[in-house]
Amino acid sequence: MAEEIKNLIGGRWQAAAEGKTLKSVNPADTDDVVGVVPASTGADVDRAVDAARKAFNAWRLTPPPKRGEIIFRAAEHLLKNKDSLGELVTREMGKILKEGLGDVQEAIDMAYYMAGEGRRLSGETVPSELADKDCKSFRVPIGVFALITPWNFPTAIPAWKIFPALISGNTVVFKPSSYTPVSATRLVELIVEAGIPAGVINLVHGTGTEIGEYLATHPAIDGVSFTGSSVVGEKLSKMCGTIDKEISCEMGGKNAIIVMEDGNLELAVEGALWGGFGTTGQRCTAASRVVVHEPVYDGFVKTFAAEAEKLTLGDGLNEKTDVGPLINEAQLKKVLDYIEIGKKEGARLVIGGKRLTADKYKKGFFVEPTIFADVTPDMRIAREEIFGPVVSVLKAGDLKDAIEIVNSSEYGLSSAIYTQDVNSSAVAERDLDTGIVYINAPTIGAEIQLPFGGTKKSGLGHKEAGGRGGALDMFTKWKVIYRDFSNMLQKAQITEE
Ligand code: NAD
Repeated sequence: MAEEIKNLIGGRWQAAAEGKTLKSVNPADTDDVVGVVPASTGADVDRAVDAARKAFNAWRLTPPPKRGEIIFRAAEHLLKNKDSLGELVTREMGKILKEGLGDVQEAIDMAYYMAGEGRRLSGETVPSELADKDCKSFRVPIGVFALITPWNFPTAIPAWKIFPALISGNTVVFKPSSYTPVSATRLVELIVEAGIPAGVINLVHGTGTEIGEYLATHPAIDGVSFTGSSVVGEKLSKMCGTIDKEISCEMGGKNAIIVMEDGNLELAVEGALWGGFGTTGQRCTAASRVVVHEPVYDGFVKTFAAEAEKLTLGDGLNEKTDVGPLINEAQLKKVLDYIEIGKKEGARLVIGGKRLTADKYKKGFFVEPTIFADVTPDMRIAREEIFGPVVSVLKAGDLKDAIEIVNSSEYGLSSAIYTQDVNSSAVAERDLDTGIVYINAPTIGAEIQLPFGGTKKSGLGHKEAGGRGGALDMFTKWKVIYRDFSNMLQKAQITEE
């Protein structure tokens, strides 16, 4: 049964002003309509921004530990509803159930982590150079934030933005992807049930072109946190990076695993399978390139292909499924186009390459796990983000060559190396130009207590998630206080005669 979904504006669930709707469908079976959602327009965005603005002052003045208590309750609600929400994520986005549950777990982890920040949010106190004077710095919220998220982590990525934004004292207007609006709505409902005051979180559904840009560039929006493609991120950063608006973007990737001769090859194959075909390759950190040291190249390709052949495609809710569908028709076409491009460029198609059309697949967007070998760094399939189950295998003469190949990408999100040599791992750690580097693990699997984000075309502005240099920097600005209790005019840096 299709659920009827509403926008949340100023604490009231409501339809779009113009009454138009969009459908969210199950990518494993497009006859299954998951929800009918508002197709909002600028008028809805205006009202949501206005509601967030009105709620800001009271929320800013709510003590952070109190904000933390509400977020802690949200974490508890999420935990209680993990199974049903995980199933919804799978039904709406297509990833297999274990990953749907993992998606929700990440949201839970972030909620607990940020709830704790309510009692930290620390700044500095430092001595003054003058007597009877003290100095400190502390974090203050930025104001009203626009949060714009993609479809591939329907609850985790929104949670990565909503919880740090709220604990910091901002109010938000959240626009989720129009491909996963029902999961996003359920997440917001659970946060509201935890006791968030009206207007602090507002949810507006709609497409990127109709309302995304309008929201991001809205004059009453103080900050934008965007996750999605590099094309859109770059466009928004040019439009929003003004003197009175902050923007941070987490964007695409062309992540690579290096496999050295001295690496544990079995483990490397397992890592390449999980990194390349997990979430059907639709992760920003997916291992879409594997760069293999020449002496083990042929053996690696053979075993990797043999193991990939064993993966079962299907509906993510079926527990036998290893790989689910692609999200939509456009993504299906893009992946199939890239497979043709790879063939034309002269790469060797080792396995896969086709859409599945048997009865049980024909209502979904299923493409076989695909491996291209003998890929060279200049080929488009080695350079461009495909965002599907397509892995390019490249050959490297030595470690230096492998690192150069990885770094030749215009993206810089995640990389990995399989090696048992401590020196090689240290060099890789130092020289791989990506925001995240894994040693003896694939390119996916970030944990929320550390900053998350990439270099080059993968990331712009502040990083997400926890730890020093993480999302609190995105959602706060520093204020510095000098308090003089000397009862006289003291002049810093001035030497009195
Ligand atoms: P997308 O850029 O098409 O859309 C992302 C969001 O932006 C959606 O909510 C969409 O409606 C909105 N949007 C689209 N056009 C817009 C515009 N002109 N103005 C404002 N908003 C607009 O990306 P997608 O297809 O939803 O997601 C896949 C992409 O996201 C991939 O490139 C992937 O690598 C990237 N991604 C990055 C990370 C990361 O943390 N680095 C995480 C997940 C996904």
